[in-house]
Amino acid sequence: MRHPFKLTLCVDNKKLSASSDTKHYSLLQIVVLGLLLFLMLSAQAESEHEASMARLDAIQAAADKSNDEGLRQLIEFKKNLPADADPKLRLETLSLLSGLYYDAGKGSLSKETVNEFTALAKKMRDQDALLLIDIFDSFEILEKSGVAEAFIHLDKLQARVLQSSSIGVQIRYRNTLASLYSISHKFDEALKQYLEMLKLSELLPKRQVQARMSTWSAIANLYLQMKDPEKALNATTEALAVSSATIAPKIFIEISISRGVALSVLKRNDEALKEYQSALKIGREENLPYTVALALFNIADQYLIKKDFKRAEMYARDAMAKSQALEDNWGIAGAKVNLGFALGGQGKIAQGAELVNQSLEFFKKSHANTDVEMILGEFSHMYEDAGMYKEALALVREQQKLSDEIFRSDRAKAVAVLQEQFDAEHRKKQIEILAKDNALKDADIQNHRLQQIVALLASLVALLAGAFIYVLYRRSKKLNEQLQEVNLQLEFHAVRDPLTGLHNRRSFIALMAARPGRVDVERREAYVNPDCMILLDIDHFKHINDTWGHAVGDVVLKEVATRLRNVVRDEDMLMRWGGEEFLIFSPKSNPEQITSLVERVLRAVGETAFTSSEISIPVTVTAGFISVPFSDVPEEICDWERALQIADMALYLGKTHGRNRAYGLSRLLVSHEEAIPTLTHDLAAAIKENMVEVIEVLGPVQEPLVA
Ligand code: GH3
Ligand code: MG
Ligand code: MG
Repeated sequence: MRHPFKLTLCVDNKKLSASSDTKHYSLLQIVVLGLLLFLMLSAQAESEHEASMARLDAIQAAADKSNDEGLRQLIEFKKNLPADADPKLRLETLSLLSGLYYDAGKGSLSKETVNEFTALAKKMRDQDALLLIDIFDSFEILEKSGVAEAFIHLDKLQARVLQSSSIGVQIRYRNTLASLYSISHKFDEALKQYLEMLKLSELLPKRQVQARMSTWSAIANLYLQMKDPEKALNATTEALAVSSATIAPKIFIEISISRGVALSVLKRNDEALKEYQSALKIGREENLPYTVALALFNIADQYLIKKDFKRAEMYARDAMAKSQALEDNWGIAGAKVNLGFALGGQGKIAQGAELVNQSLEFFKKSHANTDVEMILGEFSHMYEDAGMYKEALALVREQQKLSDEIFRSDRAKAVAVLQEQFDAEHRKKQIEILAKDNALKDADIQNHRLQQIVALLASLVALLAGAFIYVLYRRSKKLNEQLQEVNLQLEFHAVRDPLTGLHNRRSFIALMAARPGRVDVERREAYVNPDCMILLDIDHFKHINDTWGHAVGDVVLKEVATRLRNVVRDEDMLMRWGGEEFLIFSPKSNPEQITSLVERVLRAVGETAFTSSEISIPVTVTAGFISVPFSDVPEEICDWERALQIADMALYLGKTHGRNRAYGLSRLLVSHEEAIPTLTHDLAAAIKENMVEVIEVLGPVQEPLVA
């Protein structure tokens, strides 16, 4: 029986490698570091810097698609920064640059860039940037002094984090906490931090999608550590559901590898191999060496499972070479383990064991207990296959002891349920080994002493098993409840927006996933009374936040939600689509009903100003709306996502025409073959070329908020 060693390796790899000397940013952290960008600094961006910020924004988007291309553009951008450029802009540039260098496998350049970032942050006394560096330091402290010291360090930073207005800093802080909790096997605490991160990510001014995706991906890895592959797989599905738009290769690979590991644990080995191979392919195409090494390593592992030791050896050697080139100690140690098992499988036991022992030492030193535990399991298996039962038994016992620490310590109570199954498997395995051992010894009477030990152990195991089960049963019952609570929380947040209590994007995507069948049945009716989508965005919301503060911004969001709830029909679905964007899905509506609903919506928000304490805040929204199916276009050609994209463009048109209004598309004036290509990319052009009929609905008259 195999254990998913590769998976925690990949988890720990991501979270711990940040502390190693050659790299300061682990894979996961880079994604999050990327987010900090803009956020720390954009609030203060002044108009003269807006162009540069926008350029940096575009470079980041380019880097999402291709790390090399992003890196090329960013190096150019940095070179052309004037000496007196806004230091904040320079900090952002350095932060992004270090991440891109790292992903490109240029560890030392990445480190140099981090040093430059640190020096500048110190010189400018930039509080958020300094705080970020301090948060990072916890990984170094972890490596040098252990997890307790790292917690103390983070604890000391807490007050400063709470004072910081940067959501990115807060996310990074929680992300680091979550890493420490998961190292300490406090999986439920780690999960809570990730849930908070999901909430916080809604507040990010930019790159919300990326933040949510990488958080879900981290949750997937956490579940993998908890040996719950099904939940892990679900979490990767959540990650992919965050955005239906094209996913950046970096995050996609990360998700693919997590999925692969989950599938592998579920013994869906061929599917797992496919995930790894697709990660490998993209990693190579996009020149992302860390992910290439990680994919190779996992592929080697799949071949170990298939007992194709020759091929496993080939991939493990390849992974090792790549990790060595990157000076990635975690990658090297992981590849070494797989190489050791591959050699062991081919009968080269001593040589294989030597490699595995070297890695074990490394993982032990690095506090990677879950990895050590899994390697021990594999290792015993190797000996068992080779008929070396004594060695196998010793390792199984060491593994058992460690797994007791991981899953049985007071701090890991919430996973005792999982542990119970785990223990049952262990006992079974121990007894199996003993039985095999016995058979061997029967034939070999000279080994008398060992036979006695085996017999003694066997009766001991039987005795202990009975006592164990009762204790475990009682404890697991209580702890199961705790775990359930966390899961409930997770499920609730998965469909509801915590601030407004409205449905969120995810629940709508789930609804839409069930759509094709329904429309098939009622196809004709669907064109007469199609479903309608109204996308709304609060006008000048940033100004509201900036003027009255975030808390008041939140109150406004809640109030808008309430007002919208009061005007939609019972059968309509109202969602918080993103930060200050809402979506109304109005099934089976005719065009008149929709126009009047849109009028009511604009009035409900804009007619009377919002009052909170003594302040009065005029609030308006701008909307775009469209039906689905749209005009007479079949949904295979214009599905809900495309239609929503068009509604978004209509909304944008409303913004550029003065806000507090709505634009809706009523029908096509030319064939869809002609219209759709233009329409989905440039609504303004499609209108100009008379391809589509547009309705304008004006909002109530109100004092403009911003002159
Ligand atoms: P526009 O009229 O063009 O839409 O201008 P805008 O200021 O509304 O611009 P934009 O839509 O880009 O700004 C959205 C802002 O909403 C940025 C973000 O900080 C803020 N925001 C997003 N989610 C939340 C939230 O949950 N609470 C608060 N208070 N602010 C949020
Ligand atoms: Mg917006
Ligand atoms: Mg807005």
